Amino acid sequence: MTARILVVDDVPANLKLLEARLVAEYFDVLTAEDGFKALAICEHTHVDLILLDIMMPGLSGFEVCERLKADPRFAHIPIVMVTALDQPADRVRGLKAGADDFLTKPVNDLQLISRVKSLVRLKTLSDELRIRADTAQNVGIEDMLKGTDGRDEPGQVLLVDSRGNSQERFIKALKPIAEVMAMSDPQAALFEAAENSFDLVIVNANFDDYDPLRLCSQLRSLERTRFLPLLIVTEQGEEDLIVRALDLGVNDYIMRPVDPNELVARCLTQIKRKRYNDRLRVSVQQTIELAVTDALTGLHNRRYLDNHLKTLFNRAAARGRALSICITDIDRFKTINDTYGHDAGDDILRQFAARIRSTVRGADLACRYGGEEFVVVMPDTDAAAAGMIAERLRGLIENQPFVIRSTGQAISVTASLGIASNEAAAETPEQLLKQADRALYEAKNSGRNRVVAAAA
Ligand code: GH3
Ligand code: MG
Ligand code: MG
Repeated sequence: MTARILVVDDVPANLKLLEARLVAEYFDVLTAEDGFKALAICEHTHVDLILLDIMMPGLSGFEVCERLKADPRFAHIPIVMVTALDQPADRVRGLKAGADDFLTKPVNDLQLISRVKSLVRLKTLSDELRIRADTAQNVGIEDMLKGTDGRDEPGQVLLVDSRGNSQERFIKALKPIAEVMAMSDPQAALFEAAENSFDLVIVNANFDDYDPLRLCSQLRSLERTRFLPLLIVTEQGEEDLIVRALDLGVNDYIMRPVDPNELVARCLTQIKRKRYNDRLRVSVQQTIELAVTDALTGLHNRRYLDNHLKTLFNRAAARGRALSICITDIDRFKTINDTYGHDAGDDILRQFAARIRSTVRGADLACRYGGEEFVVVMPDTDAAAAGMIAERLRGLIENQPFVIRSTGQAISVTASLGIASNEAAAETPEQLLKQADRALYEAKNSGRNRVVAAAA
């Protein structure tokens, strides 16, 4: 992973120094000696992260940050403010401008590399999710992601800290941005984190007889907490601990004595990113579901069937198990549409799908294949069993009229069904489908409202 980092500073010596340190870590580095040049570089080049000096002639770092964060093309690029003045007011101002993190000059190597790596890691994850969401052409995704600056709702923070008075201080400092649940037992905290949805876990490394990295590692390995941001609080001079923590996947650290502004800034960064990535993940999930679901009936669609039938067919072949397929097509559906209207037709399709769902087992795959045609794939089902299931479905359609919800009209509907099973000569899923389709055609031709099995 080579991330491209843009370093902005009006003092050439500072540029050179940061560049050298980052290049030594194999980052790809660009430099700009003022804010305008920095903006121009962003316009023309892909940048993964920006280290931004605050005090610069012309545009200040705050202004550059504000402009970038206001532009949807660049708002997702993490910005680390590099502040010479160790003043809390600067941090607050940077935070307001949308900065993601802070470094204080002279820049400490460990801080520089760990923060840059952690932000690049998060950026890589969000980029991947953004690309996937884009690929799926999820319109409106940017809208959905807007207004997620992490300040709208208080964050849910789990604090693991062995001391009561220290817990109090954290709760007070974080009050403006987060609701904090404080616990002193690390194992109980692990359960709590897995059971409930937090935006951030803060682990204060102040236990007398417990290794805080143990909890961090457990949180990283549990499925439920794998993506949960972790911030560790350490003593000055505990560089070894910090390095090991970051290696384990801890997202950030802060040293005692804890500056409340810095704490708020770091927590807000983690909460903001967590929410951004959560939303992306949900949206990608929804996109995937939409892509394989039929909107009218909620059954899987043809695309899904074509993919999944292959898997089921090959699995059955490999294990020497039976597999049957049933295609059903509503009889004279065009007449139903013409007589009762298209909406009534839609209602029948929905109810038809519900009756299919009620007939098949959980392991069966039911899809709307097109118009008024449905396919059911039945693993571990031989031709004889498939024949019985199809006959049961046929009866269920014929014997209970469909009642149109909007008008209350009861309409008699019948369907024709064709079945085929892998006991016959089918060598590919396509052949199996074709055999079932031919059987369906026969059912239609021989009078409709019947089940025909493909010849074995
Ligand atoms: P057959 O017994 O031979 O299957 O006759 P049919 O009228 O059912 O078959 P045909 O294929 O001629 O017509 C299918 C009809 O299904 C035509 C089309 O308007 C209707 N249809 C397809 N999709 C939908 C849909 O989503 N909603 C509604 N209401 N009708 C649909
Ligand atoms: Mg039909
Ligand atoms: Mg048809």
